[in-house]
Amino acid sequence: MEKNPLPSQKAASLWLPESSKPLIIAGPCSAESPEQLLKVAQDLKRMENVSFLRAGIWKPRTTPGNFQGVGSEGLKWLKEVKKETGLPFSTEVGSEKHVYEALKFGVDMVWIGARTVSNPFVMQEIAEALRGVDIPVLVKNPLSPDLDLWEGAIKRLSNVGIRNIGAIHRGFSWWGKSIFRNQPFWKIPMELKAKFPNLPIICDPSHISGKRNLVPFVAKRAVDMGFDGLMIEVHPEPEKALSDAAQQLTLHEFELLLAFIKDSNFQEESYPDELLSELRAEVDIMDDLLLWALSNRMELSGRIASVKTSRKMPALQPKRWSQVLDRVTNTGEQSGLRVDFIKKLYNAIHKESLSVQNELIEKVK
Ligand code: PEP
Ligand code: MN
Repeated sequence: MEKNPLPSQKAASLWLPESSKPLIIAGPCSAESPEQLLKVAQDLKRMENVSFLRAGIWKPRTTPGNFQGVGSEGLKWLKEVKKETGLPFSTEVGSEKHVYEALKFGVDMVWIGARTVSNPFVMQEIAEALRGVDIPVLVKNPLSPDLDLWEGAIKRLSNVGIRNIGAIHRGFSWWGKSIFRNQPFWKIPMELKAKFPNLPIICDPSHISGKRNLVPFVAKRAVDMGFDGLMIEVHPEPEKALSDAAQQLTLHEFELLLAFIKDSNFQEESYPDELLSELRAEVDIMDDLLLWALSNRMELSGRIASVKTSRKMPALQPKRWSQVLDRVTNTGEQSGLRVDFIKKLYNAIHKESLSVQNELIEKVK
């Protein structure tokens, strides 16, 4: 695998806290009023380990008619709140114009949202607008589980000389039922880290979870896996929030989360079950994927059967079967599976495939 240190990257410690501590970014999904921002910022400031306030002012909504954000007005509030509390602030930029606006108000850090990262034209425009700017720029993963697209967005920023780039893992859109709003697919951010060891990667458990009771478990898992920081949605009154109400934490819940991620012995009755459901939800997704792949494979067996019938070939083709077995045994072994297991599994799959084919061949005879 290509190892690219993103050469223009500054030592991450210049904007991350002490290397052993995760960077904490917290604040409401959306800026709603000057009072809301001041309240949340004052409380977060008291907690000390929060490095940046977050608040979205331009909200990319999936459904038209939903709250679109307060716009540039929110930048005035954020600037004022920083003056009062001393807490640096960050916001999402989704266009060149947003970048210029945010910079005008002295934004301390910006992030680029999942929908924007999915569009290379807009990413390039934003990168150009940020040329020569020396604030950290965080890149969320794109909506689809596409590492190249994520990496491409990061490289566009690196190519214009941005020195403080970070990535944010916020989960991926996926079909099927799951307890997550966005699927974590942890392997993808881990691969990004392996490719770019100097690139800080922050986890956004709020958008992965979609509901507040899951947020601490996803956060804990991310920290245990060595993520460099967390971005958490916190709101003074989450149930009244104008966006993402179900996933925002109260300040008290956020304090508990900070204790939970720090202390591996933290005891709370319901916690082990929640952690177990997080892991089981991932297993369910993998099972759905396995079943989907198997049903597609059997459907192909049916199509192969009709070709074999027209060519008067028997269903069992020993040479082809031995090639298939060799290939899957090698690939499976490289992925860490035991040879014995792959052979057992594939014998069962092959047996089922032959019987599907034979049934069809018999039918047309
Ligand atoms: C957000 O951070 O509030 C947001 C809209 O995030 P995402 O781009 O991950 O959906
Ligand atoms: Mn949100």
